Amino acid sequence: MGDERAARIAVIGAGLAGLLCARRLQDAGLHPVVFEKSRGLGGRLATRRAEDNRTFDHGAQYITARNPSFRAMLGRARQAGKADLWRPRLAPGMEERSEDWLVGAPAMNALVRPLAEGLDIRQQSQVTALRRALGGWHLEGVEDEAGRPFDAVVCAVPAPQAQTLAADEAALVEHLAAVRIAPCWALMVTFSELFDPGFDACRPDGEALAWIARNSSKPGRAAARDTWVIHASPDWSRENLELEREEAAARIVALLPAAFGRDLPPIDHAVAHRWRYALTTAPLGRPYLATGDGSLLIGGDWCLGARVECAYESGEAMAAAVLERFGLEQLDG
Ligand SMILES: Cc1cc2nc3c(=O)[nH]c(=O)nc-3n(C[C@H](O)[C@H](O)[C@H](O)COP(=O)(O)OP(=O)(O)OC[C@H]3O[C@@H](n4cnc5c(N)ncnc54)[C@H](O)[C@@H]3O)c2cc1C
Repeated sequence: MGDERAARIAVIGAGLAGLLCARRLQDAGLHPVVFEKSRGLGGRLATRRAEDNRTFDHGAQYITARNPSFRAMLGRARQAGKADLWRPRLAPGMEERSEDWLVGAPAMNALVRPLAEGLDIRQQSQVTALRRALGGWHLEGVEDEAGRPFDAVVCAVPAPQAQTLAADEAALVEHLAAVRIAPCWALMVTFSELFDPGFDACRPDGEALAWIARNSSKPGRAAARDTWVIHASPDWSRENLELEREEAAARIVALLPAAFGRDLPPIDHAVAHRWRYALTTAPLGRPYLATGDGSLLIGGDWCLGARVECAYESGEAMAAAVLERFGLEQLDG
């Protein structure tokens, strides 16, 4: 097929679901254009950098996988040195098994980089609406030099954001509106001296905080200066959602001595990040939504749950559906 008539596909969102889908489409011979509103790739598989090479994985903390094809992708990432096991010392009382906790290396978002290689990705490009156009879809808010609509659009963003983009599609909006995703305030902290409370991961008692992790205990991170990531609970995050970042940081810092159960060294870095849509509490229950003609697909982790693996499975299913529509075969891996 010449370029004139080649299928035009847009993927909105460069989190794992969007990137995996785009990768599969490209590997099968299509040339999707990926639009991502932020500067980075990976979405909630996120890493923030601070001075002195310190990094904070302030979104997803670790990955577990049962899906064979996801496990195979993670296996390849491990072989390539882009992922490794994280064996944190768990706080007393944590009854979880951490033998198979995987993290990106040297940072969480390293996992998605191989997926992005060679893709046409437009960063800092926020789609503001999807409009049906003659024979396809027009994306508002982003530059698109081609001058003809997209034949298919894959929208891989959290359900509430997809609802805004696809507001004209009443049948889809109804399902999107039923999905629930809890927010999360994340705090990135460095103490002025090395600090060892005797654990690397903890789910604190109490209602305000949900998670404490020594980020620098993860493989490949600079361990010379401790970095810590703290997640507030869904309830606390919801109640304090509209705080300024500085105020949210101050309030979470005030909760830390009780959560650690001891006095803390002085803090020399404390920055908060608001995840407005963090963890799905009421999923869709199937891997994606689509218009009747199959030209718009909407997915992401929230279709199946609150985990990275759910994003993978949704992205994979959307890719398969698009390829089927265009009569193409999915390549493994
Ligand atoms: C605080 C926190 C802790 C977590 N902990 C874990 C954990 O320990 N283990 C686990 O398995 N999972 C965890 N998760 C969940 C995990 O991060 C997600 O399931 C997964 O990363 C979601 O991937 P996704 O591709 O579906 O969505 P996202 O990663 O959210 O990707 C969506 C992308 O779309 C972009 N976007 C949105 N709107 C637009 C627009 N209009 N135009 C263009 N681009 C747009 C966003 O910028 C983003 O890059 C956690 C999440 C958070 C926030």
